[in-house]
Amino acid sequence: MNNLEETLSIIKPDAVERNLDSEIKEIFKSKGFLIKKEKKIQIEKSEAEKFYKVHETKAFFDDLCTYLSSGPIVAMVLEKENAVLDNRELMGATNPKDAAEGTIRKKYGISIDKNSVHGSDSVENAKIEIDFFFKD
Ligand code: UDP
Ligand code: MG
Repeated sequence: MNNLEETLSIIKPDAVERNLDSEIKEIFKSKGFLIKKEKKIQIEKSEAEKFYKVHETKAFFDDLCTYLSSGPIVAMVLEKENAVLDNRELMGATNPKDAAEGTIRKKYGISIDKNSVHGSDSVENAKIEIDFFFKD
């Protein structure tokens, strides 16, 4: 059964700020993800608003976009069989307090907003999000 997929992962500002990017990348590699593309960038708030448009009606939207644009991030295209769901599982629950042992958010997440990583939630959204950061 070959179901090779790509997903978009972001190491968020709270983790980059703590110099956790190399460590988190090693976790992805050790779990069988190939880092096909990566770049360290800082985005404008307007770009964060576009990226998180699906959340524009939520109360946390403005803070979320301010936060994502507050410092450098590492955007990556991860490839693996079942990459989208396997990455969601490896990341853990949105709120680090609820994240399972062994997940990235359990290990590094500070709070529901500073939860260290983003991962696409479907194959369809992965394509859109990969294009957002890597279409040239
Ligand atoms: N978020 C937040 N407060 C909330 C819910 C979400 O600050 O009550 C932030 C959090 O950083 C999360 C992001 O908004 O990672 C996107 O929310 P989503 O529900 O898509 O969670 P995810 O897919 O990242 O687990
Ligand atoms: Mg999400």
